[in-house]
Amino acid sequence: MITEKEVTSTLDHIHDGFKNRVNATLYQRLSHLRKLEKALKDYEQELIAALKNDFNKSEFETVLTEILPVMLEIKYFKKNLKSLMKAKRVRTPLPLMPASSRIMHEAKGVVLIIGAWNYPINLTLVPLVGAIAAGNTAIVKPSELTPHTAAVLEKMIKETFKSSFVRILQGDGDFTSNLLDHPFDHIFYTGSTQVGQLVYEKAAKQLCPVTLELGGKSPAIFSRTVNYDKAVKRLIWGKMVNAGQTCVAPDYVLVPLARKEVFLESCTRYMKQFKVENLNNQTKIVNRRHFDRIEKLVTGKHKILFGGKFDAENLVIEPTIVEIFDQHHALMQEEIFGPVLPVYFYKDRIEIRKFYEKSPNPLALYIFSKDKPFIRDTIEAFPSGGVLINDTMMHLANEKLPFGGRGTSGFGNYHGNASFECFSHTKSVMKQVNWFDVDFRYFPFTDKKLGFLRKILNFFS
Ligand code: NAD
Repeated sequence: MITEKEVTSTLDHIHDGFKNRVNATLYQRLSHLRKLEKALKDYEQELIAALKNDFNKSEFETVLTEILPVMLEIKYFKKNLKSLMKAKRVRTPLPLMPASSRIMHEAKGVVLIIGAWNYPINLTLVPLVGAIAAGNTAIVKPSELTPHTAAVLEKMIKETFKSSFVRILQGDGDFTSNLLDHPFDHIFYTGSTQVGQLVYEKAAKQLCPVTLELGGKSPAIFSRTVNYDKAVKRLIWGKMVNAGQTCVAPDYVLVPLARKEVFLESCTRYMKQFKVENLNNQTKIVNRRHFDRIEKLVTGKHKILFGGKFDAENLVIEPTIVEIFDQHHALMQEEIFGPVLPVYFYKDRIEIRKFYEKSPNPLALYIFSKDKPFIRDTIEAFPSGGVLINDTMMHLANEKLPFGGRGTSGFGNYHGNASFECFSHTKSVMKQVNWFDVDFRYFPFTDKKLGFLRKILNFFS
């Protein structure tokens, strides 16, 4: 493992890089983004192999959920960076005239990006693209739970960028905790809510701004009026991608009791159609601790509707749907983060509220309905990081939509323009002229001036 001395010298280098403007101009930023794009192409096969090694992730999923999102983010900035970097003129109020006003985006400085293991390329490189576009230098700390991917990322970044611009540092939780004692200008953290709190505490000591991309229990709420066939197909896909180890996976599903039969019919169809014949070809649970944790959640009063096989030796869980009978079941006590989907058949809206209130402020809220008032009322009644109607997870693919949580699912947003904002300081710049000056605001504050000030106050109130 890297020594404290090496960490300090790496960070000094990166701070110097920012001061020496290694990534300041439009030309530099675009050229760095192009280099990253090329590196990703060159390293694609190595990255696919590394993820296969880490938790048996398939090539299809790696390309779709890891590499493609980074490429699309780079494409967005190649197209929009010039206009994003331009200062925006804003109106100046009459009493301040003839001054002019504008808003500039200034790079924050040295950014620390701490990633989670479940999408180890996406969750480190998508924020890195935003940090680069906004003119920063960066340290990236990938998760230690996907060591093969972290090693390839480290090699790729070392070959691609100067040591004064971006570096990958590898280490576990203790290492990261110590890293947070060093000065940074922004910390971008993706991971669990518990560790997010620790990161926030450390950042507070240095008054360092933080983005926290955390987890939670994202519900899928069905109404009576929906195309059940399509809805269930999208629901099951969203739950089973990456073996359910996705921050925005539908965590649990609430279906009207009156639609139980049609819901189960569609489930039967798609659980069969999506079945991986050989479980060894399925994405694994990342380690034994997580496997045991998920297995323990399937206890108590419930009915297994589909699946239910737990293969501890190979760390594989068969896609499983479980009927639960109230919100107190073990599966409702924490984020599941695995291919187990609890379903509750509800009788009225009060029951939906009971489930929501057990884990409020989810990262995503999925509504399956054709009923406009139902959709509107559900969005208004249940605050969430984001909402997707009639699908799962695909809202992340729209770079025009800021992505982030609220409350326990985190704060701050990224993706596209939101990433640029996240990694920039918004700086107000006003310019006054010298050829015109009103004496009114200067000393001495005479009664005549006070009288005039009162008139202005009355005028505006
Ligand atoms: P984690 O919090 O255990 O680890 C994430 C990162 O934090 C790792 O790099 C790890 O080394 C580091 N870390 C661990 N202990 C630390 C400490 N004491 N101080 C500082 N850093 C420390 O999370 P995880 O298990 O890798 O990820 C799973 C969680 O992440 C789930 O809750 C999931 O919902 C959430 N998640 C959220 C998003 C999102 O975009 N909102 C995306 C993916 C995952």
